[in-house]
Amino acid sequence: MASFSSIQPAAAQSPAAAATSARTSVLLPHHHLHHSDQLSLSSPPPQLPPSRRIHCIRAIDAAQPYDYEAYLFNRFSQSNKLKIAVVGFGNFGQFLARAFIRQGHTVFAHSRSNYHAVAQSLGAAFFADPHDLCEQHPDVILICTSVISTESVLRSLPLQRLRRNTLFVDVLSVKEFPKNIFLQVLPHHFDILCTHPMFGPESGKVTWQNLPFVFDKVRIGNEDSRINRVETFLDIFKKEGCTMVEMSCAEHDKYAAGSQFITHTMGRILEKLQLDSTPINTKGYETLLNLVENTASDSFDLYYGLFMYNKNAMEQLERLDLAFEALKKELFGHLHEVLRKQLFGKSEEGGHRRPMLAKLPKNGTPLLPSQSEAVANKNN
Ligand code: NAP
Repeated sequence: MASFSSIQPAAAQSPAAAATSARTSVLLPHHHLHHSDQLSLSSPPPQLPPSRRIHCIRAIDAAQPYDYEAYLFNRFSQSNKLKIAVVGFGNFGQFLARAFIRQGHTVFAHSRSNYHAVAQSLGAAFFADPHDLCEQHPDVILICTSVISTESVLRSLPLQRLRRNTLFVDVLSVKEFPKNIFLQVLPHHFDILCTHPMFGPESGKVTWQNLPFVFDKVRIGNEDSRINRVETFLDIFKKEGCTMVEMSCAEHDKYAAGSQFITHTMGRILEKLQLDSTPINTKGYETLLNLVENTASDSFDLYYGLFMYNKNAMEQLERLDLAFEALKKELFGHLHEVLRKQLFGKSEEGGHRRPMLAKLPKNGTPLLPSQSEAVANKNN
């Protein structure tokens, strides 16, 4: 049992003793001690009249108001936790919120529709009014709305109610567009991180292990707290096992048009064919069925956003068209040759052969108007 007389000035104490005396000062605010009681810290308690004896404190390790170590531990672990406001609590917003909550972060949700019950079931708080949301002073505002509604949603947020230097993050499937809107709309004291998890509720249903997570630190303040906050946010995806890929928004859009937009387009074309599973599915056919499932379950708004808000998408659509035309010509060209052989027999042998099919220039090389015409006209 430690009596008050053993307490020394903090500078002369070991760290443990200093912690004890710090604890004492927290537990026993000065207004709890009468002047004469304070004097008793360095000398044996004087005899007090019976009416005052009840106030004389002789020990600090009994009946503490709360557990200070647990308090410190909680404060330390909370410093690694974020208050994240998910704006756009649809399919993808909810999917991400589950992971945030699983990792111990606090999630506030806001959306056009009422997701009160869904949010509650996940362990998040739902705010129908953006003013109420912003007054919670989240560390991070995560924009998770459809690409086409992002600008109007961002402009509708009462930014003046947020703490200065709040971190804005987006997860849109296109990147140059939200980057430019953020830079236009958000005051300089807000930080900006543009991201794209390259997976969704279907492809990331079981695990995020080794799935790519693209990010671009567009504007982050110099202070340690702001740098740490970005790292804490990125850590959520690292901890889930994502492959972290830092690249510019422009680079992302170039790669994504040639990969993601093509994938979604093929999925949607195949969906129109209404493919059915058969008793003799090949592995390749199973892949096609999976592709339809993975892409057609996303909203059309999402697909439309990939097209409208990525300047490279139009070229990819043209390339697809040309590739399909060229393939048909290759098929019909072969058929044509067989027919001519049947009609004219050996007289054609060694004579004029149809030219080989023109190839499209490699992806990433822009299609010049003359090249696309050449591909289209070849074999005509
Ligand atoms: P989505 O159709 O692209 O977006 C749905 C969300 O946008 C919902 O929260 C919806 O709110 C909101 N929204 C739509 N129109 C709105 C409007 N006019 N005003 C206000 N809010 C509006 O589908 P999603 O799959 O949930 O995707 C959300 C974002 O994540 C998109 O930007 C998408 O590109 C990106 N993303 C999606 C995936 C994926 O696999 N799904 C993967 C990576 C990134 P309500 O529900 O309240 O109507």
